[in-house]
Amino acid sequence: MPFEKKDKIEICCKWCGKTIEVRPWRKGKVKFCSKKCKYSYLKKSMLIKNASKKKLRYRLICKNIYCRKSFIVVFSKVKKRKYCSRKCYYISKTQEYKKEVLKRMEVKKKQDEVKNILSLNKRDNN
Ligand SMILES: [Zn+2]
Ligand SMILES: [Zn+2]
Repeated sequence: MPFEKKDKIEICCKWCGKTIEVRPWRKGKVKFCSKKCKYSYLKKSMLIKNASKKKLRYRLICKNIYCRKSFIVVFSKVKKRKYCSRKCYYISKTQEYKKEVLKRMEVKKKQDEVKNILSLNKRDNN
């Protein structure tokens, strides 16, 4: 008899922990007692993978126009963080800073207006 009972070894299902008997040569190949357990396990490990993706770090640029330093944040903070440091955050709250931003916005607006006029002229020429 090539395969007697003593030829089998016992392993634990990686998902439910149930003991399963396998031939020694299948050791390492068989990890689950059933397909259901295998899929449950794979599904969970996928979820973990996705969750750890969310822990990835992102590089943002400080919104402080005087700073513009890049800084690293975790995914969950991406939408909340705008400044690289508290200092930049406080600077952004000062009147002086707001005035400067407005000034720059005005300049940009004017530049955009000029661009728009130019492109309008172009269109008219066509
Ligand atoms: Zn199982
Ligand atoms: Zn900054």
